Amino acid sequence: MYDVIIVGGGIIGCALARELSRYNVRLALLEKEVEVGFGTSKTNSGIIHAGHHSPPGTLKGQFEWSGNQLWGDLAKELKFGFKHIGELLIAQKREDLQYLENLKKQGDSRGVTGLEMWGPKRIQKEEPNLSHTILKALHAPTAAVINPYEACFGLIECAKQNGLELFCDHPVQSIKRERDNFSIATPRGSFRARIILNAAGLFADHVAAMVGAKTFSISPRKGEEYLLDRRLQGIVTHLIFPTPTATSKGVLIIPTVDGPTMVGPTAEDIDDREDLSTSYSGAADVFAAVRKTCPAISERDTITEFAGLRAVSESNDFIIKRSPVKNFYNIAGIQSPGLTAAPVIATYVINMLRDNDLSLVKKQTWKADIDGPPRFAAMSPKDRKAAIHKDSAFGQIVCRCELVTEAEVLYAIKHGARTLDGVKFRVRAGMGRCQGGFCTTRLMDLLAQADEIPLSEITKRGKGSEICIQRHDIIPKKDDR
Ligand SMILES: Cc1cc2nc3c(=O)[nH]c(=O)nc-3n(C[C@H](O)[C@H](O)[C@H](O)COP(=O)(O)OP(=O)(O)OC[C@H]3O[C@@H](n4cnc5c(N)ncnc54)[C@H](O)[C@@H]3O)c2cc1C
Repeated sequence: MYDVIIVGGGIIGCALARELSRYNVRLALLEKEVEVGFGTSKTNSGIIHAGHHSPPGTLKGQFEWSGNQLWGDLAKELKFGFKHIGELLIAQKREDLQYLENLKKQGDSRGVTGLEMWGPKRIQKEEPNLSHTILKALHAPTAAVINPYEACFGLIECAKQNGLELFCDHPVQSIKRERDNFSIATPRGSFRARIILNAAGLFADHVAAMVGAKTFSISPRKGEEYLLDRRLQGIVTHLIFPTPTATSKGVLIIPTVDGPTMVGPTAEDIDDREDLSTSYSGAADVFAAVRKTCPAISERDTITEFAGLRAVSESNDFIIKRSPVKNFYNIAGIQSPGLTAAPVIATYVINMLRDNDLSLVKKQTWKADIDGPPRFAAMSPKDRKAAIHKDSAFGQIVCRCELVTEAEVLYAIKHGARTLDGVKFRVRAGMGRCQGGFCTTRLMDLLAQADEIPLSEITKRGKGSEICIQRHDIIPKKDDR
Protein backbone atom coordinates (compact mmCIF):
# COMPACT_ATOMS: atom_id res chain seq x y z
CA MET A 1 0.00 0.00 0.00
CA TYR A 2 1.47 3.33 -1.08
CA ASP A 3 0.46 6.69 0.37
CA VAL A 4 0.84 8.32 -3.03
CA ILE A 5 1.17 6.92 -6.54
CA ILE A 6 2.10 9.26 -9.37
CA VAL A 7 0.91 8.16 -12.82
CA GLY A 8 3.26 9.44 -15.53
CA GLY A 9 6.98 10.18 -15.44
CA GLY A 10 7.22 13.30 -17.58
CA ILE A 11 8.72 16.50 -16.20
CA ILE A 12 5.60 16.99 -14.05
CA GLY A 13 5.62 13.46 -12.57
CA CYS A 14 9.39 13.62 -11.98
CA ALA A 15 9.17 17.05 -10.29
CA LEU A 16 6.30 15.80 -8.11
CA ALA A 17 8.31 12.70 -7.21
CA ARG A 18 11.34 14.69 -6.07
CA GLU A 19 9.28 17.20 -4.10
CA LEU A 20 7.24 14.48 -2.36
CA SER A 21 10.36 12.47 -1.57
CA ARG A 22 11.19 15.17 1.00
CA TYR A 23 8.40 13.79 3.23
CA ASN A 24 7.71 10.58 5.10
CA VAL A 25 5.31 9.11 2.57
CA ARG A 26 5.46 5.76 0.80
CA LEU A 27 5.73 6.87 -2.77
CA ALA A 28 5.74 5.19 -6.21
CA LEU A 29 5.66 6.36 -9.81
CA LEU A 30 4.18 4.28 -12.63
CA GLU A 31 5.34 5.11 -16.15
CA LYS A 32 4.15 3.44 -19.32
CA GLU A 33 7.38 3.91 -21.30
CA VAL A 34 10.66 2.05 -20.60
CA GLU A 35 12.22 5.20 -19.18
CA VAL A 36 11.02 8.45 -17.64
CA GLY A 37 10.87 11.61 -19.73
CA PHE A 38 10.05 9.74 -22.96
CA GLY A 39 6.72 11.55 -23.55
CA THR A 40 6.29 15.23 -24.42
CA SER A 41 9.01 16.14 -21.93
CA LYS A 42 11.67 14.69 -24.24
CA THR A 43 10.47 16.47 -27.36
CA ASN A 44 10.24 20.17 -26.59
CA SER A 45 12.29 23.31 -27.12
CA GLY A 46 14.04 23.14 -23.74
CA ILE A 47 13.35 26.77 -22.90
CA ILE A 48 12.92 28.04 -19.38
CA HIS A 49 10.65 30.88 -20.35
CA ALA A 50 11.56 34.36 -19.19
CA GLY A 51 8.39 34.82 -17.11
CA HIS A 52 6.44 37.45 -19.05
CA HIS A 53 4.71 35.43 -21.81
CA SER A 54 1.64 33.82 -20.24
CA PRO A 55 -1.47 35.92 -19.65
CA PRO A 56 -2.49 37.07 -16.16
CA GLY A 57 -5.46 35.37 -14.54
CA THR A 58 -4.28 31.92 -15.68
CA LEU A 59 -2.30 29.21 -13.90
CA LYS A 60 0.22 29.47 -16.75
CA GLY A 61 0.69 33.16 -15.92
CA GLN A 62 0.89 32.41 -12.19
CA PHE A 63 3.61 29.77 -12.54
CA GLU A 64 5.82 30.94 -15.43
CA TRP A 65 7.89 33.51 -13.56
CA SER A 66 7.95 31.66 -10.23
CA GLY A 67 8.99 28.47 -12.07
CA ASN A 68 11.70 30.30 -14.00
CA GLN A 69 13.41 31.35 -10.79
CA LEU A 70 13.78 27.79 -9.46
CA TRP A 71 15.73 26.28 -12.35
CA GLY A 72 19.19 27.73 -11.62
CA ASP A 73 19.41 26.01 -8.23
CA LEU A 74 17.86 22.81 -9.56
CA ALA A 75 20.45 22.61 -12.34
CA LYS A 76 23.26 23.00 -9.79
CA GLU A 77 21.82 20.33 -7.48
CA LEU A 78 20.98 17.85 -10.22
CA LYS A 79 24.07 18.56 -12.40
CA PHE A 80 22.40 19.28 -15.71
CA GLY A 81 23.31 22.00 -18.18
CA PHE A 82 21.58 25.36 -17.75
CA LYS A 83 22.40 28.59 -19.59
CA HIS A 84 20.82 31.99 -19.04
CA ILE A 85 21.09 33.12 -22.66
CA GLY A 86 18.17 35.59 -22.69
CA GLU A 87 15.53 36.09 -25.31
CA LEU A 88 14.69 38.59 -28.04
CA LEU A 89 11.06 38.85 -29.09
CA ILE A 90 11.14 40.67 -32.39
CA ALA A 91 8.70 42.89 -34.28
CA GLN A 92 9.05 42.96 -38.05
CA LYS A 93 5.79 44.80 -38.74
CA ARG A 94 4.51 48.09 -37.37
CA GLU A 95 1.36 46.38 -36.05
CA ASP A 96 3.52 44.07 -33.88
CA LEU A 97 5.08 46.96 -31.94
CA GLN A 98 2.11 47.38 -29.61
CA TYR A 99 2.33 43.67 -28.73
CA LEU A 100 5.91 44.18 -27.54
CA GLU A 101 4.89 47.19 -25.41
CA ASN A 102 2.03 45.23 -23.84
CA LEU A 103 4.24 42.25 -23.13
CA LYS A 104 6.81 44.46 -21.44
CA LYS A 105 4.11 45.97 -19.22
CA GLN A 106 2.82 42.48 -18.38
CA GLY A 107 6.31 41.33 -17.42
CA ASP A 108 7.14 44.50 -15.45
CA SER A 109 3.94 44.22 -13.44
CA ARG A 110 4.75 40.57 -12.63
CA GLY A 111 8.23 41.52 -11.42
CA VAL A 112 10.18 39.94 -14.31
CA THR A 113 13.59 41.58 -14.13
CA GLY A 114 15.66 43.27 -16.84
CA LEU A 115 13.06 43.65 -19.62
CA GLU A 116 14.30 46.18 -22.14
CA MET A 117 13.28 47.45 -25.61
CA TRP A 118 16.08 47.32 -28.18
CA GLY A 119 16.13 49.32 -31.44
CA PRO A 120 17.69 48.17 -34.75
CA LYS A 121 21.22 49.38 -33.86
CA ARG A 122 21.42 47.36 -30.65
CA ILE A 123 19.83 44.34 -32.32
CA GLN A 124 22.41 44.39 -35.15
CA LYS A 125 25.26 44.83 -32.67
CA GLU A 126 24.17 41.87 -30.54
CA GLU A 127 22.79 39.64 -33.31
CA PRO A 128 24.42 40.63 -36.64
CA ASN A 129 22.94 37.61 -38.46
CA LEU A 130 19.33 38.64 -37.89
CA SER A 131 17.34 40.26 -40.69
CA HIS A 132 17.85 44.00 -41.09
CA THR A 133 14.08 44.48 -41.37
CA ILE A 134 13.54 43.99 -37.63
CA LEU A 135 12.04 47.16 -36.19
CA LYS A 136 12.36 46.48 -32.47
CA ALA A 137 12.96 43.67 -30.02
CA LEU A 138 11.99 43.06 -26.41
CA HIS A 139 15.03 41.68 -24.57
CA ALA A 140 14.31 39.36 -21.64
CA PRO A 141 17.57 38.31 -19.95
CA THR A 142 15.84 35.83 -17.63
CA ALA A 143 15.13 33.27 -20.39
CA ALA A 144 17.32 30.17 -20.20
CA VAL A 145 17.87 26.81 -21.91
CA ILE A 146 18.24 23.27 -20.56
CA ASN A 147 18.00 19.71 -21.87
CA PRO A 148 14.54 18.72 -20.58
CA TYR A 149 15.29 14.99 -20.56
CA GLU A 150 18.40 15.57 -18.39
CA ALA A 151 16.15 17.42 -15.96
CA CYS A 152 13.75 14.44 -15.85
CA PHE A 153 16.60 11.98 -15.26
CA GLY A 154 18.09 14.20 -12.53
CA LEU A 155 14.78 14.74 -10.73
CA ILE A 156 13.92 11.04 -10.75
CA GLU A 157 17.38 9.94 -9.65
CA CYS A 158 17.19 12.35 -6.73
CA ALA A 159 13.69 11.11 -5.84
CA LYS A 160 14.89 7.49 -6.03
CA GLN A 161 17.81 8.13 -3.71
CA ASN A 162 15.27 9.61 -1.27
CA GLY A 163 12.94 6.60 -1.31
CA LEU A 164 10.77 6.79 -4.46
CA GLU A 165 9.93 3.41 -6.00
CA LEU A 166 10.01 3.74 -9.79
CA PHE A 167 8.17 1.33 -12.09
CA CYS A 168 8.85 2.00 -15.78
CA ASP A 169 7.19 -0.10 -18.49
CA HIS A 170 4.11 -0.16 -16.23
CA PRO A 171 1.21 1.38 -18.18
CA VAL A 172 -1.81 1.91 -15.94
CA GLN A 173 -4.69 -0.03 -17.51
CA SER A 174 -7.48 0.37 -14.96
CA ILE A 175 -8.12 1.99 -11.60
CA LYS A 176 -10.75 0.85 -9.11
CA ARG A 177 -11.94 2.68 -6.02
CA GLU A 178 -11.97 0.26 -3.08
CA ARG A 179 -13.36 1.92 0.07
CA ASP A 180 -10.76 4.57 0.92
CA ASN A 181 -8.08 3.29 -1.46
CA PHE A 182 -7.38 2.76 -5.13
CA SER A 183 -6.39 -0.46 -6.81
CA ILE A 184 -4.33 0.17 -9.95
CA ALA A 185 -3.80 -2.53 -12.58
CA THR A 186 -0.83 -2.70 -14.94
CA PRO A 187 0.21 -5.64 -17.18
CA ARG A 188 3.08 -6.30 -14.76
CA GLY A 189 1.22 -6.32 -11.45
CA SER A 190 -1.26 -4.30 -9.42
CA PHE A 191 -0.66 -1.56 -6.90
CA ARG A 192 -2.69 0.00 -4.10
CA ALA A 193 -2.59 3.63 -3.06
CA ARG A 194 -4.43 6.11 -0.87
CA ILE A 195 -3.84 9.04 -3.21
CA ILE A 196 -3.30 9.18 -6.98
CA LEU A 197 -1.66 12.08 -8.79
CA ASN A 198 -2.57 11.84 -12.47
CA ALA A 199 0.30 13.37 -14.47
CA ALA A 200 -0.22 11.24 -17.59
CA GLY A 201 0.25 14.08 -20.10
CA LEU A 202 -1.49 13.38 -23.41
CA PHE A 203 -3.37 10.49 -21.79
CA ALA A 204 -4.39 12.24 -18.57
CA ASP A 205 -8.05 12.30 -19.64
CA HIS A 206 -7.96 8.53 -20.33
CA VAL A 207 -6.43 7.85 -16.91
CA ALA A 208 -8.98 10.13 -15.20
CA ALA A 209 -11.81 8.34 -17.03
CA MET A 210 -10.65 5.00 -15.54
CA VAL A 211 -11.95 6.13 -12.15
CA GLY A 212 -14.78 8.45 -13.18
CA ALA A 213 -12.70 11.59 -12.63
CA LYS A 214 -12.67 12.87 -16.21
CA THR A 215 -13.76 16.49 -16.18
CA PHE A 216 -11.73 17.54 -19.24
CA SER A 217 -10.52 16.27 -22.62
CA ILE A 218 -7.06 16.41 -24.12
CA SER A 219 -6.29 16.85 -27.79
CA PRO A 220 -2.82 16.74 -29.31
CA ARG A 221 -1.18 19.68 -31.05
CA LYS A 222 1.98 18.71 -32.91
CA GLY A 223 5.21 20.69 -32.95
CA GLU A 224 8.04 19.77 -35.33
CA GLU A 225 11.60 20.83 -34.46
CA TYR A 226 14.76 20.77 -36.61
CA LEU A 227 18.27 20.49 -35.17
CA LEU A 228 21.01 22.13 -37.25
CA ASP A 229 24.64 21.24 -37.85
CA ARG A 230 27.22 22.54 -35.38
CA ARG A 231 28.54 24.64 -38.28
CA LEU A 232 25.73 27.06 -37.44
CA GLN A 233 26.51 27.16 -33.73
CA GLY A 234 26.53 30.81 -32.64
CA ILE A 235 24.56 32.13 -35.63
CA VAL A 236 22.40 33.68 -32.92
CA THR A 237 23.28 33.82 -29.25
CA HIS A 238 19.85 34.68 -27.81
CA LEU A 239 16.59 32.78 -28.14
CA ILE A 240 14.78 34.46 -31.02
CA PHE A 241 10.98 34.67 -30.77
CA PRO A 242 8.69 36.17 -33.44
CA THR A 243 5.46 37.83 -32.34
CA PRO A 244 3.21 34.87 -31.46
CA THR A 245 0.25 33.40 -33.32
CA ALA A 246 -3.15 32.55 -31.80
CA THR A 247 -2.11 28.92 -31.14
CA SER A 248 1.61 29.04 -30.40
CA LYS A 249 4.65 31.16 -29.68
CA GLY A 250 5.59 30.88 -33.37
CA VAL A 251 8.74 29.45 -34.93
CA LEU A 252 11.77 30.10 -32.72
CA ILE A 253 15.53 30.01 -33.19
CA ILE A 254 16.96 28.18 -30.21
CA PRO A 255 20.66 28.06 -29.30
CA THR A 256 20.45 24.79 -27.34
CA VAL A 257 22.29 24.34 -24.08
CA ASP A 258 24.84 22.02 -25.78
CA GLY A 259 25.60 24.54 -28.52
CA PRO A 260 23.84 23.44 -31.74
CA THR A 261 21.04 25.63 -33.01
CA MET A 262 17.48 24.28 -33.27
CA VAL A 263 14.52 25.79 -35.12
CA GLY A 264 10.79 25.18 -34.61
CA PRO A 265 8.21 24.23 -33.51
CA THR A 266 5.20 24.10 -35.82
CA ALA A 267 1.70 24.04 -34.29
CA GLU A 268 -0.76 21.64 -35.93
CA ASP A 269 -3.91 20.21 -34.35
CA ILE A 270 -4.09 16.47 -35.03
CA ASP A 271 -6.15 13.47 -33.84
CA ASP A 272 -3.57 10.76 -33.24
CA ARG A 273 -1.88 10.98 -29.82
CA GLU A 274 0.97 8.75 -30.96
CA ASP A 275 1.80 10.53 -34.24
CA LEU A 276 5.36 11.82 -33.87
CA SER A 277 6.08 12.02 -37.60
CA THR A 278 7.73 15.03 -39.21
CA SER A 279 6.70 16.24 -42.64
CA TYR A 280 7.87 18.11 -45.72
CA SER A 281 5.19 20.73 -45.13
CA GLY A 282 6.30 21.14 -41.50
CA ALA A 283 9.90 21.66 -42.58
CA ALA A 284 8.83 24.07 -45.29
CA ASP A 285 6.80 26.14 -42.79
CA VAL A 286 9.59 26.21 -40.22
CA PHE A 287 12.33 27.26 -42.64
CA ALA A 288 10.15 29.79 -44.43
CA ALA A 289 9.44 31.45 -41.08
CA VAL A 290 13.04 31.26 -39.89
CA ARG A 291 14.45 32.70 -43.12
CA LYS A 292 12.42 35.85 -42.56
CA THR A 293 14.19 36.33 -39.23
CA CYS A 294 17.63 34.92 -39.99
CA PRO A 295 18.22 34.55 -43.76
CA ALA A 296 21.42 32.45 -43.47
CA ILE A 297 19.62 29.44 -41.99
CA SER A 298 18.67 26.75 -44.51
CA GLU A 299 16.99 23.32 -44.38
CA ARG A 300 20.20 21.83 -45.82
CA ASP A 301 21.77 22.35 -42.39
CA THR A 302 19.33 19.96 -40.67
CA ILE A 303 21.02 16.97 -39.00
CA THR A 304 17.94 15.55 -37.32
CA GLU A 305 14.31 16.38 -36.67
CA PHE A 306 11.58 15.31 -34.26
CA ALA A 307 8.03 16.13 -33.27
CA GLY A 308 6.42 16.61 -29.85
CA LEU A 309 2.74 16.75 -28.95
CA ARG A 310 1.27 19.45 -26.74
CA ALA A 311 -1.54 18.23 -24.44
CA VAL A 312 -4.21 20.84 -25.16
CA SER A 313 -7.27 21.06 -22.88
CA GLU A 314 -10.52 22.93 -23.60
CA SER A 315 -9.58 25.75 -21.21
CA ASN A 316 -6.13 26.13 -22.81
CA ASP A 317 -4.81 26.50 -19.26
CA PHE A 318 -3.19 24.04 -16.83
CA ILE A 319 -5.71 21.86 -14.96
CA ILE A 320 -4.36 21.29 -11.46
CA LYS A 321 -7.05 20.25 -9.06
CA ARG A 322 -8.76 17.72 -6.88
CA SER A 323 -11.14 15.68 -9.00
CA PRO A 324 -14.72 14.78 -8.01
CA VAL A 325 -13.28 11.42 -6.85
CA LYS A 326 -11.80 11.85 -3.39
CA ASN A 327 -8.00 11.60 -3.26
CA PHE A 328 -7.61 11.59 -7.05
CA TYR A 329 -5.85 14.69 -8.41
CA ASN A 330 -5.49 15.76 -12.03
CA ILE A 331 -2.37 17.64 -13.14
CA ALA A 332 -3.27 17.86 -16.80
CA GLY A 333 -3.31 20.04 -19.90
CA ILE A 334 0.27 20.98 -19.15
CA GLN A 335 1.26 22.75 -22.37
CA SER A 336 3.99 25.36 -22.63
CA PRO A 337 5.26 26.78 -20.29
CA GLY A 338 4.86 23.40 -18.56
CA LEU A 339 8.56 22.66 -18.49
CA THR A 340 9.31 26.08 -16.99
CA ALA A 341 6.50 25.75 -14.46
CA ALA A 342 7.14 22.10 -13.43
CA PRO A 343 9.04 22.72 -10.16
CA VAL A 344 6.50 25.23 -8.92
CA ILE A 345 3.56 23.05 -10.04
CA ALA A 346 5.07 20.34 -7.82
CA THR A 347 5.08 22.56 -4.72
CA TYR A 348 1.57 23.82 -5.55
CA VAL A 349 0.26 20.23 -5.67
CA ILE A 350 1.99 19.38 -2.42
CA ASN A 351 0.32 22.34 -0.71
CA MET A 352 -3.01 21.10 -2.09
CA LEU A 353 -2.34 17.64 -0.64
CA ARG A 354 -1.38 19.16 2.69
CA ASP A 355 -4.56 21.26 2.78
CA ASN A 356 -6.73 18.27 1.91
CA ASP A 357 -5.79 14.74 2.67
CA LEU A 358 -2.21 14.06 3.49
CA SER A 359 -0.21 14.68 6.63
CA LEU A 360 3.24 15.65 5.45
CA VAL A 361 6.15 15.29 7.85
CA LYS A 362 9.60 16.16 6.51
CA LYS A 363 12.24 13.42 6.52
CA GLN A 364 15.13 14.00 8.87
CA THR A 365 17.58 13.31 6.08
CA TRP A 366 16.89 14.28 2.50
CA LYS A 367 19.63 14.58 -0.10
CA ALA A 368 18.98 17.42 -2.54
CA ASP A 369 21.80 16.74 -4.97
CA ILE A 370 23.06 13.89 -7.14
CA ASP A 371 26.51 13.21 -8.60
CA GLY A 372 25.55 13.56 -12.27
CA PRO A 373 27.32 11.92 -15.21
CA PRO A 374 31.02 12.58 -15.92
CA ARG A 375 31.61 14.72 -19.06
CA PHE A 376 34.86 13.73 -20.76
CA ALA A 377 34.37 16.25 -23.59
CA ALA A 378 34.25 19.10 -21.08
CA MET A 379 37.34 18.00 -19.10
CA SER A 380 40.73 19.72 -19.39
CA PRO A 381 43.55 17.61 -20.91
CA LYS A 382 44.96 17.17 -17.40
CA ASP A 383 41.62 15.94 -16.01
CA ARG A 384 41.18 13.60 -18.99
CA LYS A 385 44.56 12.02 -18.32
CA ALA A 386 43.69 11.57 -14.64
CA ALA A 387 40.28 10.07 -15.51
CA ILE A 388 41.87 7.53 -17.90
CA HIS A 389 44.50 6.68 -15.30
CA LYS A 390 41.75 5.96 -12.76
CA ASP A 391 39.43 4.10 -15.14
CA SER A 392 40.69 2.86 -18.52
CA ALA A 393 37.10 2.99 -19.90
CA PHE A 394 37.65 6.77 -20.21
CA GLY A 395 40.31 5.93 -22.78
CA GLN A 396 37.77 4.24 -25.07
CA ILE A 397 35.95 6.78 -27.24
CA VAL A 398 32.54 5.39 -28.24
CA CYS A 399 30.92 8.44 -29.88
CA ARG A 400 33.44 10.32 -32.00
CA CYS A 401 31.22 13.26 -32.89
CA GLU A 402 30.48 14.23 -29.29
CA LEU A 403 33.60 12.67 -27.71
CA VAL A 404 31.75 10.32 -25.38
CA THR A 405 33.69 7.54 -23.68
CA GLU A 406 32.78 4.02 -22.67
CA ALA A 407 32.96 5.08 -19.01
CA GLU A 408 30.16 7.61 -19.56
CA VAL A 409 28.00 5.09 -21.42
CA LEU A 410 28.45 2.59 -18.58
CA TYR A 411 27.50 5.35 -16.11
CA ALA A 412 24.30 6.01 -18.08
CA ILE A 413 23.41 2.30 -18.06
CA LYS A 414 24.13 2.02 -14.34
CA HIS A 415 21.82 4.98 -13.72
CA GLY A 416 18.81 3.61 -15.55
CA ALA A 417 19.39 3.85 -19.33
CA ARG A 418 17.75 0.82 -20.95
CA THR A 419 17.58 1.99 -24.56
CA LEU A 420 19.74 3.76 -27.14
CA ASP A 421 17.76 6.95 -26.52
CA GLY A 422 18.27 6.53 -22.77
CA VAL A 423 22.05 6.49 -23.30
CA LYS A 424 21.95 9.25 -25.91
CA PHE A 425 19.93 11.64 -23.75
CA ARG A 426 22.00 11.02 -20.64
CA VAL A 427 25.52 11.30 -22.08
CA ARG A 428 25.08 12.51 -25.72
CA ALA A 429 26.40 9.34 -27.39
CA GLY A 430 24.80 9.32 -30.86
CA MET A 431 23.71 12.94 -30.74
CA GLY A 432 26.30 14.45 -33.07
CA ARG A 433 26.71 14.99 -36.79
CA CYS A 434 26.53 11.30 -37.75
CA GLN A 435 23.51 10.67 -35.48
CA GLY A 436 24.78 7.30 -34.27
CA GLY A 437 26.14 6.12 -37.64
CA PHE A 438 29.42 5.09 -36.01
CA CYS A 439 28.52 4.33 -32.40
CA THR A 440 25.13 2.60 -32.51
CA THR A 441 26.54 -0.95 -32.75
CA ARG A 442 29.02 -0.29 -29.93
CA LEU A 443 26.26 1.16 -27.75
CA MET A 444 24.11 -1.89 -28.49
CA ASP A 445 26.96 -4.17 -27.41
CA LEU A 446 27.38 -2.29 -24.14
CA LEU A 447 23.63 -2.32 -23.39
CA ALA A 448 23.38 -6.03 -24.25
CA GLN A 449 26.38 -6.93 -22.10
CA ALA A 450 25.13 -4.93 -19.13
CA ASP A 451 21.66 -6.51 -19.12
CA GLU A 452 22.83 -9.89 -20.44
CA ILE A 453 20.28 -9.82 -23.23
CA PRO A 454 20.61 -10.58 -26.95
CA LEU A 455 21.20 -7.72 -29.36
CA SER A 456 17.76 -8.30 -30.87
CA GLU A 457 16.24 -7.05 -27.59
CA ILE A 458 18.00 -3.69 -27.72
CA THR A 459 15.61 -0.93 -28.74
CA LYS A 460 15.83 2.72 -29.66
CA ARG A 461 13.10 3.76 -27.24
CA GLY A 462 11.18 0.67 -26.08
CA LYS A 463 9.15 -2.16 -27.61
CA GLY A 464 8.52 -1.77 -31.31
CA SER A 465 11.75 0.14 -31.96
CA GLU A 466 14.13 -2.86 -32.08
CA ILE A 467 17.24 -2.23 -34.19
CA CYS A 468 17.96 -5.74 -35.44
CA ILE A 469 15.79 -8.77 -36.03
CA GLN A 470 16.87 -12.22 -34.97
CA ARG A 471 16.29 -14.58 -37.89
CA HIS A 472 16.27 -18.12 -36.48
CA ASP A 473 15.50 -19.47 -39.94
CA ILE A 474 18.77 -18.29 -41.44
CA ILE A 475 21.86 -20.31 -40.59
CA PRO A 476 24.92 -18.74 -42.20
CA LYS A 477 26.93 -21.18 -44.34
CA LYS A 478 30.70 -21.23 -44.17
CA ASP A 479 30.98 -20.09 -47.81
CA ASP A 480 28.75 -17.04 -47.14
CA ARG A 481 31.18 -15.49 -44.72
C1 LIG B 1 7.09 21.06 -29.48
C2 LIG B 1 6.98 21.50 -28.03
C3 LIG B 1 7.82 22.48 -27.52
C4 LIG B 1 7.69 22.89 -26.19
N1 LIG B 1 8.59 23.77 -25.69
C5 LIG B 1 8.54 24.13 -24.39
C6 LIG B 1 9.51 25.02 -23.85
O1 LIG B 1 10.46 25.39 -24.53
N2 LIG B 1 9.38 25.41 -22.56
C7 LIG B 1 8.35 24.97 -21.78
O2 LIG B 1 8.26 25.42 -20.63
N3 LIG B 1 7.44 24.08 -22.24
C8 LIG B 1 7.52 23.64 -23.52
N4 LIG B 1 6.64 22.73 -24.01
C9 LIG B 1 5.66 22.16 -23.11
C10 LIG B 1 6.28 21.04 -22.25
O3 LIG B 1 6.99 20.14 -23.05
C11 LIG B 1 5.16 20.30 -21.53
O4 LIG B 1 4.43 21.24 -20.79
C12 LIG B 1 5.67 19.23 -20.55
O5 LIG B 1 6.63 18.41 -21.15
C13 LIG B 1 4.50 18.41 -20.06
O6 LIG B 1 4.98 17.46 -19.16
P1 LIG B 1 4.06 16.29 -18.61
O7 LIG B 1 4.83 15.61 -17.56
O8 LIG B 1 2.71 16.83 -18.28
O9 LIG B 1 3.79 15.34 -19.88
P2 LIG B 1 4.68 14.15 -20.48
O10 LIG B 1 6.09 14.49 -20.59
O11 LIG B 1 3.99 13.70 -21.71
O12 LIG B 1 4.55 13.02 -19.36
C14 LIG B 1 3.42 12.23 -19.20
C15 LIG B 1 3.88 10.81 -18.97
O13 LIG B 1 2.76 9.99 -18.66
C16 LIG B 1 2.99 8.73 -19.20
N5 LIG B 1 1.72 8.01 -19.32
C17 LIG B 1 0.70 8.25 -20.16
N6 LIG B 1 -0.29 7.37 -19.96
C18 LIG B 1 0.11 6.54 -18.97
C19 LIG B 1 -0.46 5.41 -18.33
N7 LIG B 1 -1.66 4.94 -18.67
N8 LIG B 1 0.24 4.80 -17.34
C20 LIG B 1 1.47 5.25 -16.97
N9 LIG B 1 2.06 6.32 -17.56
C21 LIG B 1 1.39 6.95 -18.54
C22 LIG B 1 3.64 9.05 -20.55
O14 LIG B 1 4.34 7.93 -21.07
C23 LIG B 1 4.53 10.21 -20.21
O15 LIG B 1 5.85 9.82 -19.91
C24 LIG B 1 6.71 22.30 -25.34
C25 LIG B 1 5.88 21.30 -25.86
C26 LIG B 1 6.01 20.89 -27.18
C27 LIG B 1 5.15 19.77 -27.69
